Amino acid sequence: MTAHSNVYPTKALQDLDAAHHWHPFSDMKSLNAEGTRIITSADGVWLRDSEGKKILDGMAGLWCVQVGHGRTEIADAVHKQMVELSYYNTFFKTTHPPAVALSEKLASLAPAHINRVFYCSSGSEANDTVFRMVRTYWDKLGKPDKKGIIGRWNGYHGSTLAGTSLGGMKAMHAQGDLPIPGVYHIDQPYWFGEGHEMDPDEFGIFTARKLEQAIDEIGEDKIAAFIAEPVQGAGGVIIPPDSYWPEIRRILKERDILFVSDEVICGFGRMGEWFGSGYYGMEPDLMPIAKGLTSGYLPMGGVMVSDRVAEGLMLAGGEFYHGYTYSGHPACAAAALANLEIIEREGLVGRVKNDIGPYLKERWLKLAGHPLVGEARMTGLLGALELVPNKTNPHKPFRDAGTAGTLCRDISFENGMVMRAVRDSMIISPPLVLTHEEADLLVKTVEKTLDDTFQVLK
Ligand code: PLP
Repeated sequence: MTAHSNVYPTKALQDLDAAHHWHPFSDMKSLNAEGTRIITSADGVWLRDSEGKKILDGMAGLWCVQVGHGRTEIADAVHKQMVELSYYNTFFKTTHPPAVALSEKLASLAPAHINRVFYCSSGSEANDTVFRMVRTYWDKLGKPDKKGIIGRWNGYHGSTLAGTSLGGMKAMHAQGDLPIPGVYHIDQPYWFGEGHEMDPDEFGIFTARKLEQAIDEIGEDKIAAFIAEPVQGAGGVIIPPDSYWPEIRRILKERDILFVSDEVICGFGRMGEWFGSGYYGMEPDLMPIAKGLTSGYLPMGGVMVSDRVAEGLMLAGGEFYHGYTYSGHPACAAAALANLEIIEREGLVGRVKNDIGPYLKERWLKLAGHPLVGEARMTGLLGALELVPNKTNPHKPFRDAGTAGTLCRDISFENGMVMRAVRDSMIISPPLVLTHEEADLLVKTVEKTLDDTFQVLK
């Protein structure tokens, strides 16, 4: 069987998959018993599976397909690049035109104090790069004790050793004896789940000050950096209270530590700005990027480096002993350039801010009226619904955490839409090209899915 066969024998593919394919973040026992879903093609916001079923991609793949599926323009740019120069590396003082053009483009999109990018192939690799970069920066400045990095519980920064360590997913830490020593975690600004006894803004200040407390306890002279997603994505679209980021900004201003804004989900228009840190008026020293950089057409990530960090790294010999065979890969850079060209030409960032973002948000927030929903929240094109067992006592969770969410996710798929479940929160992050009609259909499908889930749970 070839990957391009026009006929998709679902059962045969499932059996072969079960025999030979180990899936990321999948319970392999139940997956093998139930059989995988097989996606065979996609166009715009629509997926098609091996049974010919059309499915609305409410997650833009894995939060990445900003420009929608099936853009031949990106495929053509990659093809052209591959014919001209399919591969060369960027080690040992070498470059190639697509890497130069993409670096210039990214510098023009980033805030004025960020002018360089270090390339890799994923968000996880970007955060492994961050890990070594911040420690090396302080070494070069003659402060070798500044090695600690503070992340947040329930944050997600990838699944390599550094990515898992910087993230705050306890189940991930348990596999592989992580985090790496020298990584600390503070509480997340998750008002619905952990702060509802306070007013949201009071809770925002309260959780932001956990950073101040951690720095004071460990010692400012031992902390290299604080890393955070502007909005925690994989943790459940945790949108912080309005007071949170201004208080973090105050704390960071007063302390001499680096701020790393993980833009892997929030970057490239997802929040109606080029970067999520810009949405919150933050000034990061480093920005890991991936996903929306290429809209997932080819794997590429990077770390955007501020002038401050770049200058520090060039002290006492300018070599950073770090790099990947595919750093700045020419075909991936060509895909990124074509993708960014589409985002700019079609005004997708402004569209999220002024058009489809507010349009979908208005309708999404109304889902809070459903008997199964304790809270509906959305910013940019990142949305969440908190499923609750009893609406009159909404902050009391289901006894068997995650069961309702998984059920709702499966029903959503049956109803023709991908929604992700994080415990009992339902998450969406659709492509930025979603039309008003598709947004209406999305909300209608979610309504039906909530009704169907409610019936089963009753
Ligand atoms: N950082 C954030 C905020 C993410 O959401 C992710 C992936 O979801 C990563 C890093 C890791 O990216 P990748 O899966 O490309 O390694």
